[in-house]
Amino acid sequence: MNRIAKLYFRYGTMGSAKTAMLLTTAYNFEERGLQYLCFKPVVDTRDNRNVIRSRIGIERECEWIYGHTDLYLLTQEIMRNNPEALPSWILVDEAQFLSASQVDQLAAVVDDFGINVICYGLRTDFKGNLFEGSKRLFEMADTIDEVKSTCTCGRKTIMNARIDSNGDIITEGAQVEIGGNDRYVACCRKCWRNRKLEKMERNRVLHQDRQN
Ligand SMILES: [Zn+2]
Repeated sequence: MNRIAKLYFRYGTMGSAKTAMLLTTAYNFEERGLQYLCFKPVVDTRDNRNVIRSRIGIERECEWIYGHTDLYLLTQEIMRNNPEALPSWILVDEAQFLSASQVDQLAAVVDDFGINVICYGLRTDFKGNLFEGSKRLFEMADTIDEVKSTCTCGRKTIMNARIDSNGDIITEGAQVEIGGNDRYVACCRKCWRNRKLEKMERNRVLHQDRQN
């Protein structure tokens, strides 16, 4: 196969409609009669159906990706089992949860099979550190696009703050903690830092009160 294919990374913060974009893209492929596959790393086991779903109500079936899944072998197997419908596109949701090796496997799928791969995902976690999958995608992708959304202050969102039930920012904990979108709020760096400073100040006052 000599088709020129590319590995794309489309990143944004939580709530930036990445999944809706993926599903719209899938719909457009269907309209044009193009074959495609959807992949999604399994993190949230509350979902027991293998679908990608967006808040606007549309969904598509997907292949679930586990930590040990070899995406090169999986794609090869799917192509072998259905040679009548070879995919020309692969759409990956929540791509930040891929391992670095899985990103490399997708890059090999692009180069060896001529399949375009579009990965949608977050850039950084709630502490502002790159996810493993996102880091590797920044290193390996042919094309990188930002899916922009706006903070309440008007700046561009780049952080995903984790919050507790009072809306206070949480700065410690595991990188992956599933609790739905209500546990996170996307904001700009300045608001993210302000939230942290406000919390430190509140803790300081609380501590002082206890001592007095
Ligand atoms: Zn802001």
